[in-house]
Amino acid sequence: YKAKSQGLSMAFFSHEMTEHATEMVDLQSRLRGALNRGLIKPFYQPLIDLKTGKTIGVEVLARWVTDDGSIGPSPAVFIPVSEETGLIGALSETMIAQACNDIVRWQQEGVQIKYSINVSARQFADDNFCTEAFAQFERLGVDPKTVQIELTESVLLNNTERSLQKIQELKARGFLIALDDFGTGFASLHYLTLFPFDTLKVDRAFVTNIIEDKRQFAIAKSIINLAHDLDLVVVAEGIETEEQRQVLFDLGCDVGQGYLFSRPVAPDFLSNLLVA
Ligand code: C2E
Ligand code: MG
Ligand code: MG
Ligand code: MG
Repeated sequence: YKAKSQGLSMAFFSHEMTEHATEMVDLQSRLRGALNRGLIKPFYQPLIDLKTGKTIGVEVLARWVTDDGSIGPSPAVFIPVSEETGLIGALSETMIAQACNDIVRWQQEGVQIKYSINVSARQFADDNFCTEAFAQFERLGVDPKTVQIELTESVLLNNTERSLQKIQELKARGFLIALDDFGTGFASLHYLTLFPFDTLKVDRAFVTNIIEDKRQFAIAKSIINLAHDLDLVVVAEGIETEEQRQVLFDLGCDVGQGYLFSRPVAPDFLSNLLVA
């Protein structure tokens, strides 16, 4: 072992730590292989106008499609790995390229919805990313007003001033900005006045037990009212039941997303949903 030859004792590492490290290296190399073979693909989850029941947008979510066509590890696992290993650049490149392809096709078919794209911390910190990644949409004739960039609080904590600059640049080009997973991060409410968001996404944590837990109901209600007072569109994530949909509609929530309406689906499947 390298560590031993350098005079370190393996006893410094617990069995779990070495096992974890080995798993990460394994996952990283499998992810690299999947990226090279085009197996990381965009899936699309509908966003529903709670007043009309219509699909007004979709969130683009990365899926690892394995060789036998089944779905591999979750993005909750491989996005952090890609961030740690620098693969996030290649990952977002292929995601945006494929999504652009799908979006242009849907536009030609007359589909009029918005497209939400997740951007992670390291991607956003990369100066080239913001200028170049989204230029693809513009080059392909996709109206930036139909493209919403989803950022989490953690993305903005890193370098607040630089983040604000980048957001303002993207806004000036017409892109929409959403604050994702609201309520679970470390940022203060002050962030809501600092950044020119268009949309606020209430984290699934406040939706899951909104019926059973008075406190979750109170928080969801307050977030919705706060967002409206700030002229933001509110999206509730993770709606799984009709009761949850009804309560959120009664609270005035604008948009819903969740398994009740649809799971994230492959592009061909979304085409069927949109045409039907
Ligand atoms: P997110 O942006 O908050 O995306 C919403 C997550 O909630 C998705 O998980 C979606 O599948 C899941 N979800 C939606 N409705 C329901 C529901 O009713 N019940 C439950 N239990 N879950 C629901 P997913 O696809 O596993 O993605 C996890 C996270 O990985 C995303 O959270 C996002 O932060 C990140 N991610 C996914 N794709 C990308 C990508 O292309 N780029 C980047 N940078 N991050 C991504
Ligand atoms: Mg998101
Ligand atoms: Mg979210
Ligand atoms: Mg999330």
